[in-house]
Amino acid sequence: DDSAVPAYAATLNAPQREAVLTTEGPVLMLAGAGTGKTAALTARLAHLVATRRAWPSEILCVTFTNKAAREMRERVGRHIGPAVEGMPWLGTFHSIGAKMLRRHAELAGLQSNYTIIDTDDQIRLLKTLITGEGLDEKRWPARQLAGLIDRWKNRGLNPDDLDAVENEAYANGKGQRFYQLYQDRLKTLNACDFGDLLLHVLNVFRTHREVLEQYQQRFKYILVDEYQDTNQVQYLWLRLLAQERKNICVVGDDDQSIYSWRGAEVANILKFEKDFPGAKIVKLEQNYRSTPHILAAASGLINANSERLGKTLWTELPAGEKVRVIGVWDGPEEARRVGEEIQRLEREGAGLDQVAILVRAQYQTREFEDRFIQIGMNYRIIGGFRFYERAEIRDALAYLRVIASPADDLAFERIYNQPKRGLGAKTLESMHRHARATGLPLAAASLQLADSDELPARARGTIANLMGQFLRWRELAETTAPAELLRTVLAESGYDAMLQAEKSAESAGRAENLSELARAMEEYDSLGDFLEHVALVMDNDRADDGEKVTIMTIHAAKGLEFDHLFLPGWEEGVFPSQRALDEGGLASLEEERRLAYVAITRARRRCTILHAANRRIYGQWTSSIPSRFVGELPADHVTEETTLTGGASLWRAQMSEHEDPFAHLARAQPARTMTRGPGWQRALTTGYDTAPHRVREVTRSAASFAAEARSDIAVG
Ligand code: ATP
Ligand code: MG
Repeated sequence: DDSAVPAYAATLNAPQREAVLTTEGPVLMLAGAGTGKTAALTARLAHLVATRRAWPSEILCVTFTNKAAREMRERVGRHIGPAVEGMPWLGTFHSIGAKMLRRHAELAGLQSNYTIIDTDDQIRLLKTLITGEGLDEKRWPARQLAGLIDRWKNRGLNPDDLDAVENEAYANGKGQRFYQLYQDRLKTLNACDFGDLLLHVLNVFRTHREVLEQYQQRFKYILVDEYQDTNQVQYLWLRLLAQERKNICVVGDDDQSIYSWRGAEVANILKFEKDFPGAKIVKLEQNYRSTPHILAAASGLINANSERLGKTLWTELPAGEKVRVIGVWDGPEEARRVGEEIQRLEREGAGLDQVAILVRAQYQTREFEDRFIQIGMNYRIIGGFRFYERAEIRDALAYLRVIASPADDLAFERIYNQPKRGLGAKTLESMHRHARATGLPLAAASLQLADSDELPARARGTIANLMGQFLRWRELAETTAPAELLRTVLAESGYDAMLQAEKSAESAGRAENLSELARAMEEYDSLGDFLEHVALVMDNDRADDGEKVTIMTIHAAKGLEFDHLFLPGWEEGVFPSQRALDEGGLASLEEERRLAYVAITRARRRCTILHAANRRIYGQWTSSIPSRFVGELPADHVTEETTLTGGASLWRAQMSEHEDPFAHLARAQPARTMTRGPGWQRALTTGYDTAPHRVREVTRSAASFAAEARSDIAVG
């Protein structure tokens, strides 16, 4: 009898309702994308409050992002009204951990007004510790140590818990010592990092039974979304809290586990039944989000993974359009094409808010940002900085600005000691004082200082050297293309070396961003033109609000949905990423495939996948081949088109020729030189006769080609 069903449950299907109404005991909702897991979890929350099983303050509800928490609060608010205001324990693991830690800070050796430090502070702190202990930070980078400490914290390990292997991971057996030093230092500063938020609380629970019991009593119900991406410390924390009452409901999808690189363990969801015997397992199979073609394409793709539970998904939605796969010539064409498609959608009445572009890596946003600014299309970047705002891009631009205009003090101040040259705050003070006294710009003033005895000899030498470099770069700017200049500057200034020394995933991403910057510059003949372009792009930040196209990484798009979806860059080496291919293991490839599954399943009505035949990498035209994931999409649910001469058949041929994926290229184009490096995905080619407007690059790259190509095998 549906009339008796409260509003929050009215639209739910039978298994969803079961998950909502089974309030007592452990419940696991394990189901594919778009089946209404989050919707059911939200309804359950409303139900618990509406039926007075618990006060809002007696429910712990963990979401994956703050945005998801906000949305859940809004939705529940619609059903139960202002009571939702008093829901203090609805939020992300971080936000809930921070709140608990405030209440028990003293038990963790902190005061309740502790500060949370970010990655930058973390690195700076570690650097002082490393050099303070007489270690060479270049050899044992702070970033590497920071990565290790994060990993240990994600696994719930305190310094004392490290075994010999872990301890060896840094500076020949000094891991534990530095981890301990770091924790001690944080305590002195009354600070903690993100990893501490849960680890400290977990420690308090373990050492102060009465505190744990208080929370076990308080939380009558526990709800967790995206459970497949919980890491060990989150898992231990939840298990302690749920142990008394066992009213814990978790939802997730093993096929959407995409954070193992941050310590998430999909095993957590698989062993839920063992942790909570007698758990009710609810399976949802009806998908309400995507059209049948989209759903079939995603299901077909994920089928190629071996390590999965396997699920059936169906939908009652009308068939809709097939997933489109579009092959284009190069990156700029890809951005142009997506821009045109979105404009067409707009003419058909679609709102820009319902359009998203999901990329595999941050650097991919640049081409779209440039294009959208050109055509005046509003966009926003979620979960990351806009391309030109990222720290490494700003650093590189600062170098270029000082080259272009020696009086640009702001730019000079940004990079005079970046990478570290041993010029500290004292030196900067002297430079400022001298600049004020003489009326000279900072750079010029510092050059004069280098000739005086106001500064210690070492600093003088460093400054003279740097200014000498700038002089040379300025001359070089007269004769060299801007992109070339940038590469020289990054190499000679030590910036590249700094990133390389860091050896972290993050620094690799920053290096990728810089390559992308160089690529962007290749379209400009003079440094001045390029800097003007950037200034205009930055200005666009102040664009009015109103509807905007969303650009974000797939990782950040988890749990979200959009009517119209664009997935660019489906090429080997981009997606799956080169890193995943280099690691080579099945596990990393399967995680990439799950990421592809998450991507496609964000689409409600239309999904367009793109791949380009050429990408510019280090000034070279690199021919790329479509992602293996394109080939894995079931043909019945996909339409393929290409703007390339040679047509779709070429692409089919390309995808099927596993032995030598470039043979067709040799046939299709009279490519003069063709080489390939260790990974055949990274074949380089000097150019295509079919593209006369690229002649400039072709000749330029031909000159430096031999030098840059890695371990070549000529096949052309
Ligand atoms: P993901 O795995 O991507 O997180 P999910 O399983 O959490 O997906 P939801 O986001 O909860 O899925 O739901 C997907 C879409 O289906 C939403 O637009 C939601 O409003 C809708 N939906 C969920 N359940 C139902 C239902 N019973 N009837 C109609 N629409 C529903
Ligand atoms: Mg969800």
